[in-house]
Amino acid sequence: MCLGRCSDTKEVSIIDRLIVQPPESVRRLYSHSAWRLGGEKTMYLTFDDGPIEEQTPWVLDMLDKHGAKATFFCVGENVDRHREIYHETLRRGHVVGNHTYNHAQLLKVGWKAYRENIEKCSIAGEGKMRFFRPPHGQMTPWRTCAIVGGGLERVVFWDVMPEDYDRRLKPEEVYRNVRENVREGSIVVLHDSIKSGERMRYTLERILEEYGEKGWKFESIG
Ligand SMILES: [Zn+2]
Repeated sequence: MCLGRCSDTKEVSIIDRLIVQPPESVRRLYSHSAWRLGGEKTMYLTFDDGPIEEQTPWVLDMLDKHGAKATFFCVGENVDRHREIYHETLRRGHVVGNHTYNHAQLLKVGWKAYRENIEKCSIAGEGKMRFFRPPHGQMTPWRTCAIVGGGLERVVFWDVMPEDYDRRLKPEEVYRNVRENVREGSIVVLHDSIKSGERMRYTLERILEEYGEKGWKFESIG
């Protein structure tokens, strides 16, 4: 039995389990939001925190290689910095969402500043962002309805968050989080960020190859 962390392998805590696949009791509180969608053998890949030149173009090419479509929850200031990648994402037929202007956290900045941060992101996204995902999942149930509108159709959470951003995980462990939890209609979160680096790349490639071979489709949230 291991108390504390075993070598460099991360121990799976209860919190991690709640993050990797949120329980139904939580989902019911946010029943107007999307957690999992329909579709036989369909997976909804989503990418948070981009666009950045170190990761996003690689993701776009990998998705194209497998005929996959995805949804990108962009940070507004990254859109301002890398507008050409943002446009390329749209040009290749993907859907874009709003992830606030500078990855704002509702519990830190308060509702008014948060709302303004979302609007600033929508402006950076030239009105093309259709969905919203709160950074760090920080959202109260009663605020979800106030966010919808002004071009934003729905708040989107996730069915599987494999924690590609966690430096304590090996790429194989991130992929295992997908394999053990994914099901038809799952919304899966990966990150086109520096931090997720090789873990995201390994996981995306394995998902596309292994589930693609089994006849799964990868669609953007529509
Ligand atoms: Zn984020």
